[in-house]
Amino acid sequence: MQFDVILIGAGIGGLSAALALQQQGLRVAVCEQASEPFVGGAGLVLGASGEGVLQKLGLGEALNDLAVRPSRIAFRHFQTGRLLAETTAATGCQAGRTDLQRALIAAIHSNTRDCLHPGHALVDIGQDANGITALFAGRQMLRGSLLVACDGLRSPVRARLIGDEQPRFTGYQVWQGLVPMAHLSAAAAGLGEADTWIAPGQQLGCRRINRGAQLTWLALARSNRWSDEAWQKPSGIDSVLTAFRGFDAVARTVLMATPREQALTRGVFVRDPLPAWTQGRVALLGDAAHPVAPFIDQATDLALEDAMILARAIAAAGPTPEALQRYAAARIPRANALMIAAEARGARLTTLNPDTYVASAAEDAGYDPVTAPV
Ligand SMILES: Cc1cc2nc3c(=O)[nH]c(=O)nc-3n(C[C@H](O)[C@H](O)[C@H](O)COP(=O)(O)OP(=O)(O)OC[C@H]3O[C@@H](n4cnc5c(N)ncnc54)[C@H](O)[C@@H]3O)c2cc1C
Repeated sequence: MQFDVILIGAGIGGLSAALALQQQGLRVAVCEQASEPFVGGAGLVLGASGEGVLQKLGLGEALNDLAVRPSRIAFRHFQTGRLLAETTAATGCQAGRTDLQRALIAAIHSNTRDCLHPGHALVDIGQDANGITALFAGRQMLRGSLLVACDGLRSPVRARLIGDEQPRFTGYQVWQGLVPMAHLSAAAAGLGEADTWIAPGQQLGCRRINRGAQLTWLALARSNRWSDEAWQKPSGIDSVLTAFRGFDAVARTVLMATPREQALTRGVFVRDPLPAWTQGRVALLGDAAHPVAPFIDQATDLALEDAMILARAIAAAGPTPEALQRYAAARIPRANALMIAAEARGARLTTLNPDTYVASAAEDAGYDPVTAPV
């Protein structure tokens, strides 16, 4: 059997693309190197564009169940917790990465049971005039009209397409964690639905997820330790507590309450924006195409936007190289602009003075992948 589209990687990008393509009536395979349930990570923040895609994919109700929409985001002084600024408009919504992946997997399964192929690590690709052959470890093989690599920050397909460019270390380390609210009774009174502590060269964001039952946090700090660019466990609690030792008691209580197995860390690495994401019948999507540094909360939005535009391009031009070119042409300017904006925010964080802090809005709000030209 020949699939219309073979997607490599079952992160948010691959899963949302699968669902969007299924909705267009296409035969899709998602091949993931990990064995089931291939879920993981802490929290994700979604803006209006990402949420709009999930609604279009029929996941609006699931999102209502698993996400929290904060009425405000409070920005606080790192030492005292004093309120510096707050955002009350366009606060987006926040959810657990695992919860969102599970919701996407359930929706894909409800369409067809044979779309997801766990334990499929891509090792080689061949293209000819009629299609693409994907070869996996263990010598399994699939045929498709197109292959879209949603294989993340360290995309092996990107390395094949573009060459082995080396990522740049930004001088920052990031930690993420997940804490049950029940572990936080002492600090809970001082926590809102979304709080961010600001220090020169450091930031700690805490957000409630899962109907408020859990809290997810993301901490960024300057680091001269050249750590890996993949998420690693166990990080981390000791190193984050050392890096954030000057932070106020509420912030530190959150870090200390995090179960060791629920903390991840990695170095923040960036790659330069690419001028092209396709080669014949192969294209890149999500972090594989545009790894956005976590100085802005839009990596997941971008992956969801890619998924919607990809499905619309293939619906318009069929599963052809032309559809991939239309997809890439529609997406590259926005994704590359956000990569540049994220790096600029990282540079500003280094010299940030909490006493003169002004909250920044989401970059380029107002983009709608459901209606944007393809
Ligand atoms: C384990 C994990 C935890 C994460 N946790 C968080 C988090 O807590 N918060 C956050 O903001 N972001 C997190 N991210 C990143 C976030 O999911 C992405 O930035 C964003 O959602 C875009 O996702 P993506 O689908 O493009 O890539 P990813 O989410 O990175 O997914 C890529 C997928 O491709 C698979 N893959 C890679 N190589 C191959 C291969 N050769 N063959 C088959 N499959 C392959 C990987 O196993 C992975 O499942 C995490 C990513 C991962 C992989």
